[in-house]
Amino acid sequence: MSSSWSSAVMTTLMEVATGEAHTVPSIHIAGAERAAQSGETFATIDPSSEKILAHVARGGAADVDAAATAAREALHGPWGRMSPQDRHAALMTLAAAIEGHAELLARLETLDCGKPLSASAGDVRGAVATLRYNAGAADKMHGISVPLGPDFVDFTELVPLGVTGHITPWNFPLGMAMRSLAPALAAGCTAVLKPAEQTPLTTLALADIARTAGIPPGVINVVTGLGEEAGAALTAHPLVSGITFTGSVETGRIVGAEAGRTLKSVVLELGGKNPMIVFADADLDRAVAAAIEGGFDNTGQVCSSSSRLIVERSIKDAFLERLVARAETLVTAPGVDDRDLGPLVSAEQHGKVMDHIAAARADGARTLTGGIRPPGLDKGYFVAPTVFDAVDPQSRIAREETFGPVVSAFAFDTEEEAIALANALPFGLNAGVMTRDIDRALACARDLEAGSVWINGWFIGGVQAPTGGIKDSGTGRERGLAGIMNYLTIKNIGIALQKRDTG
Ligand code: NAP
Repeated sequence: MSSSWSSAVMTTLMEVATGEAHTVPSIHIAGAERAAQSGETFATIDPSSEKILAHVARGGAADVDAAATAAREALHGPWGRMSPQDRHAALMTLAAAIEGHAELLARLETLDCGKPLSASAGDVRGAVATLRYNAGAADKMHGISVPLGPDFVDFTELVPLGVTGHITPWNFPLGMAMRSLAPALAAGCTAVLKPAEQTPLTTLALADIARTAGIPPGVINVVTGLGEEAGAALTAHPLVSGITFTGSVETGRIVGAEAGRTLKSVVLELGGKNPMIVFADADLDRAVAAAIEGGFDNTGQVCSSSSRLIVERSIKDAFLERLVARAETLVTAPGVDDRDLGPLVSAEQHGKVMDHIAAARADGARTLTGGIRPPGLDKGYFVAPTVFDAVDPQSRIAREETFGPVVSAFAFDTEEEAIALANALPFGLNAGVMTRDIDRALACARDLEAGSVWINGWFIGGVQAPTGGIKDSGTGRERGLAGIMNYLTIKNIGIALQKRDTG
């Protein structure tokens, strides 16, 4: 787990990864680690064992102010003066440095949020790919010339938005941080990150790796802390020009409203309760595989999980029988054991998921499998993969995001009925269609109210494919070149030409 990039903070994080609880000097401003100005800390917990992993600085408004000021200085310092080619090279160096720390980052992620080690390793690879994709675009984004007629020259430049704030959730801590940080840096912006209180460790490691990889001080700053304190201060800070928030609808509304007060540009990547429609002509094995991946990957803690299975009545029982059989083969275990599912991230999330399960039963849903703590796992925030049938579309389990390994099945008889069920909620993140009929698939893709529609698979996409929600699932798009545009603003430059007598 050692590497040539190691520093004092990385050493501390490595010790955390090998089982000792430490106080991590965890606010990262202008290339240096420090404690919160208040001196306060909070604990981050290993959800597999319920033990304290580390004590982390509880940053507040004063720390956010220092971070935003450092980011502003870096914007007008070496980073702002760097050519796009040099920015590209700096980000490629950072990508290599992250790769050099892949094992440590994966282990920290697993300890902090519970996911199996190989899933964490995949997240690290995804973060590196995101950085490389965006680094490649650093010197390829440009303006246009605008035809105003013979008396003028008019053109646009794409200029960095400025200091950007990144507020991230706990389900893919490194992945979500990099999804917005990489395009912001590629665009020439500087950043202040506020990781979720449950999972700050890989974001801290990232900032330290960036420092040792030569990213200038102040370009990447991290303020650990609570949402209502550090997150709210970042959202309100006058030096911050844009906020990218990934999290719940409820908090997204607050962040959107607060950011509006200081007229920030805002990207909101929020929750979903995503429908997968399975038609009778679908390849059932593929549909079941997609439903298993979509429903239970990351223990169901995925904004784009396939939590609503809308299945044609004639095949519903056969589909559910295969789904339950597959779900019952999945092994739930501590993340370090690297099995199929880890625990939920926190006691609070465990309580919320168990509440949803109890509400589903009270509302008449039939438990086909799960709904319990897996036998033999007495410690840790574990819930077995759960499948409900006979779910009332008006019930809580049908309408609210559970964010756990819980899927609900609904029956339909006609395509119109399936689309109506799918579109019935205020969410609009992802939707999917399983059918061998391409005309029907594309008609459904047109009619489904979602930012992304997946046909005959789930989690289809990559760093090049834009993602984001409509309706209550958010506003703005990340990934792809659309993601970089969040961090660029258009400057128009017009020149009035001297009239010349050509006669
Ligand atoms: P959350 O409770 O909304 O928190 C998200 C982030 O916002 C955390 O860093 C949180 O800080 C911070 N926060 C809380 N209150 C705040 C405030 N008043 N001002 C500013 N920041 C504040 O969401 P979560 O429970 O961490 O994450 C799960 C949610 O994220 C789910 O709804 C999921 O669907 C969504 N999500 C969406 C996407 C997407 O791409 N659409 C991707 C991943 C997750 P603390 O944690 O420190 O309180």
